[in-house]
Amino acid sequence: MTMRIDIITLFPEMCEAVMSESIIGRARKKGAIEIVCHQLRDYAFDKHKRVDDTTYGGGMGMLMKAEPIALCYEEICRRTDSKPHFIYMSPKGRTLTQSRLKELTQYENITILCGHYEGVDQRLIDEYIDEEISIGDYVLTGGELPALVLADSLGRLMPGVLSDDLCFSDESHYNGLLEYPQYTKPAEWRGRTVPEVLMSGHHANIEKWRREKSLEETAKHRPDMLENAELSDRDKAFLNSLNENKD
Ligand code: SAM
Repeated sequence: MTMRIDIITLFPEMCEAVMSESIIGRARKKGAIEIVCHQLRDYAFDKHKRVDDTTYGGGMGMLMKAEPIALCYEEICRRTDSKPHFIYMSPKGRTLTQSRLKELTQYENITILCGHYEGVDQRLIDEYIDEEISIGDYVLTGGELPALVLADSLGRLMPGVLSDDLCFSDESHYNGLLEYPQYTKPAEWRGRTVPEVLMSGHHANIEKWRREKSLEETAKHRPDMLENAELSDRDKAFLNSLNENKD
């Protein structure tokens, strides 16, 4: 299955520029993922081509109108002959996590709406949006950067996008832990050496060291993650020993 992501935006060139570079750009070229950016203004059919208007009840800001977004989404439904999972990037949404990304890979078609101004008419959200996703507890000027974060992090999980699936299965957050430290050449840099075990060629010892460092990094930077991580008895004993050494 090749996932198709449609992005509805007022700045398609911005999205296109980012999604044409590096790993995702190459993945698009070889057909491992399809990404289509839509100019929302093309779906504004009133005489001023307006995509925003003032809010009922008063207030300074403008709001994105429902109709152009609905027309654009309906066109995507027609073109893909499907009803794509429709995500609105919003600071009110559920914060994006690696586990939610893994779940989202089940969808063949995803449409992402980038908001602007004060956001989007609530009736469009009630009518069409399946899910609101936030990229963190802060507010950006528009939904393009959040949409690109979502498309990039989702894209790299698709088969054939990274050269080797192991690339992400060891990574921070994928298995509920942070990644172990890594080193490249030279073996000594400004007096700092690489841990000897990594040069030993002894695979079992390297695996054990990496697991323990992963646990150590998580305990140090994100102890909250350990509550939900899958831990073996050996992992728990190692974490206990870390705590004992701290005291
Ligand atoms: N008035 C809105 C509120 O208080 O919830 C904020 C609107 S924000 C200025 C404009 C757009 O940026 C939003 O519609 C959304 O698409 C996007 N945005 C801003 N911060 C975001 C975040 N943390 N996560 C996802 N999208 C965000």
